[in-house]
Amino acid sequence: MNGFVHSIESFGSVDGPGIRFVIFLNGCKMRCQYCHNPDTWKCNVGDEMSADELIEKALRYRPYWGTEGGITVSGGEALLQIDFVLELFSKAKKMGISTCLDTSANPFSRDDAFIKKFDSLMAVTDLVLLDIKHIDSECHKKLTGQDNANILDCARYLSDINKPVWIRHVLVPEVTDDDNMLRRTREFIDTLKNVERVEVLPYHTLGVFKWEELGIPYKLEGINPPTKERIENAKSILGAN
Ligand code: SF4
Repeated sequence: MNGFVHSIESFGSVDGPGIRFVIFLNGCKMRCQYCHNPDTWKCNVGDEMSADELIEKALRYRPYWGTEGGITVSGGEALLQIDFVLELFSKAKKMGISTCLDTSANPFSRDDAFIKKFDSLMAVTDLVLLDIKHIDSECHKKLTGQDNANILDCARYLSDINKPVWIRHVLVPEVTDDDNMLRRTREFIDTLKNVERVEVLPYHTLGVFKWEELGIPYKLEGINPPTKERIENAKSILGAN
C-alpha cells in the first residue's frame, strides 16, 4: 500500500520528543482558519510512497534520534490514511523505532470499523499529539468548520486505554485565547489521566502566502501573533510546559 505524502522534515524538533523524521500526509477535512498548511487539504494527491520507502529514508537519520527521537506522522490529517499509517508504524515498531501520531482526531468515531483499526494503530503508536483547537463546540465549528464532540471523545478514549498524549493548543488572539475558554480547556484536561504534556503553540502568519496562492480568502487577516504576556498567561492557565 502507498501513502499520499505531502512533505518530509528530516530533523523535526517540534513534533514529539527528541529529533524526529516527520512525515506530513495529504488530506484534511478540517478548515482551521489559522492552518499554515492549506496545501495539504486535498486527499489522494502528492507523492505516493510505500511504508518501506519511508522507513528506509527515515533510518538514514537514526543516528541523530538518540533515545527519544523517531518517526512522527502528521498532516494534513494522518487518520484519513489510517490503513497506511498502521502499516508504517507496525513496520517501524518491529525495528524498535519510536512512533508518534500528530492528529486533530477529526476522523475519530466509535463505529466498529473505525475503532478496530484505531485500536490496532494505537497498539503500535507510542505517543499521540492531540490538538484541542477550541473547547467550545460553537466556537470550534466557526474556527474549523467541524464539530469538536468526537475530538473530545477521542481524548477520552485515549485516556481510557491509557495511551500517552500531549495536548496541543494553538493560541490565536481574539479566537482561542479567552481566559474562560482556556480554563474550560484545562478543566477538560484534568478529567484525562494520560496527558504527559500540554503545549501552547503561538499563532503565526508564515503560511498566509499559501492561502493567497490557493486563492482562498484568509479570515484571520489583521490578527497578529500573541504577545509574550498572552502566551505566558495561556501557559499558566493550561499548565503547559
Ligand atoms: S487540522 Fe491541521 S491540516 Fe487540517 S485544517 Fe486544521 S491545521 Fe490545517
